[in-house]
Amino acid sequence: MKKVYLDYAATAPCDPEVIKTMEPYFFDKFGNASSIHTYGQEAKAAIEDAREKAASFLGAKPDEIVFTSGGTESDNFAIEGVAYVLQKKGNHIITTAIEHHAISEPCKFLEKRGFDITTVGVDRYGLVSPEEIKKAVTDKTILISVMHANNEIGTIQPISEIGKIARDKGIYFHTDAVQTVGHIPVNVDELNVSLLSLSSHKFYGPKGVGALYIRKGTRIERFLHGGDQEKNRRASTHNTPGIVGLGKAIELCRQKMDKEAEFQIALRNRLIKEIPSKISEVYLNGHPTKRLPNNVNFSIKYIEGESILLSLDMLGIAASTGSACTSSSLEPSHVLLALGLSHEIAHGSLRITLGRWTKEEDINYLLEHLPKIVEKLRAMSPLYEKK
Ligand code: PLP
Repeated sequence: MKKVYLDYAATAPCDPEVIKTMEPYFFDKFGNASSIHTYGQEAKAAIEDAREKAASFLGAKPDEIVFTSGGTESDNFAIEGVAYVLQKKGNHIITTAIEHHAISEPCKFLEKRGFDITTVGVDRYGLVSPEEIKKAVTDKTILISVMHANNEIGTIQPISEIGKIARDKGIYFHTDAVQTVGHIPVNVDELNVSLLSLSSHKFYGPKGVGALYIRKGTRIERFLHGGDQEKNRRASTHNTPGIVGLGKAIELCRQKMDKEAEFQIALRNRLIKEIPSKISEVYLNGHPTKRLPNNVNFSIKYIEGESILLSLDMLGIAASTGSACTSSSLEPSHVLLALGLSHEIAHGSLRITLGRWTKEEDINYLLEHLPKIVEKLRAMSPLYEKK
């Protein structure tokens, strides 16, 4: 059976070149990077090389990069680390209604412990208004966290403008850049951020490894307590193969990103144009142009996203309704509800995300089968009958 993977925002395959670079660090060069013997020093050198590569992608300094176990840890570290260290100064944090759970859950956790969280809404395209963020600031605000691009609808936020507001007011600013690093340019100075999260498996590196960029001088409490790894900022023996893989993956993205984005934008725009011409009553979610090169998200009226996914899967096509992290819940996506969609429309969402190995023929295959699937499902839908 044909296999077409169109769920790159959930995770991407590890690039074979990345796997090759990681391999020696499982057996020949297996040392603990904190050991002073040659094995350890070999691992340490490889980690520092990866740190330089990550820093160079972001326009940061190597010692501003702390390796973590992924996007979730980086996000939790940023939110709780700043909250705990600055709690004497203030207890107010500003975030948005469309953040990933890796941000909204630590915020809820802190709310139960006396912090005051303001959740700023978005417009119908999923855009956060810098003015709204500015209005939410109080003399108790210690942190603003706004994601760079949304994982479900792909909308890219005006991070640089929000960062300028935060900087002018002397407030730390964090962005979750898990969906953008490796796909579009991400420069910490241009974005005016104090902290930035990234995750290797979203840019063709291994799973379970990520990083938090911490601008020099930013005060932050450590999140994992134990050894003094990562200059005493994050305990635990280094995941050397993972970190080496992250470094290679980000280096490859730096070389390939512009060309890949150009190709993906062409395929994405084809989907945005052709899906509504082949299927009636479909609505694009997210911003028409300020969106990730690889993201398409449609609401298809009268049917459930899950039934479309199962029908696509039977044809070998992997897509998603939104975030993979909440796919086991039957609740509609909080992101789509934040756009102002009704529960019914939010339930009928389909996210298609492209990547390094997506071909034109994959898009042809999807465009050939999706209209037939929708027609079949609508024929069985009581909602469609009542129309
Ligand atoms: N933030 C965003 C925007 C994401 O899309 C994801 C993963 O889907 C995460 C955070 C969590 O990253 P990780 O899977 O590396 O923990």
